[in-house]
Amino acid sequence: MQHKKKTAAELFGVAPRPKAIGRYVVDPGIAVAPFAHDDAVIRVFCHACGRYIGITQEGAGALAKEFGIRLPDILSGSYFEASQCVSCSDERKFTDFVLKHI
Ligand SMILES: [Zn+2]
Repeated sequence: MQHKKKTAAELFGVAPRPKAIGRYVVDPGIAVAPFAHDDAVIRVFCHACGRYIGITQEGAGALAKEFGIRLPDILSGSYFEASQCVSCSDERKFTDFVLKHI
């Protein structure tokens, strides 16, 4: 059986595609709010659709590698921003992906 690299859609889950029309502004309080119950360790805020997407440690590592970002040891207080995300972009990818700190 061939081992295939996980696609972004597999790593982050794909929901029905919202229209990528917005220029949403991040709410830092939501971006770095504690995670209640899932495996997420950090969020991505998408400017195009306004979503906050919880990302697992595995996902965060893969994205950091893809975009050449050095992840801090402590992710609390940090979040990612993207101009488009896996949910709303035509290519199902994050674009203009950057790490932010509160
Ligand atoms: Zn989006």
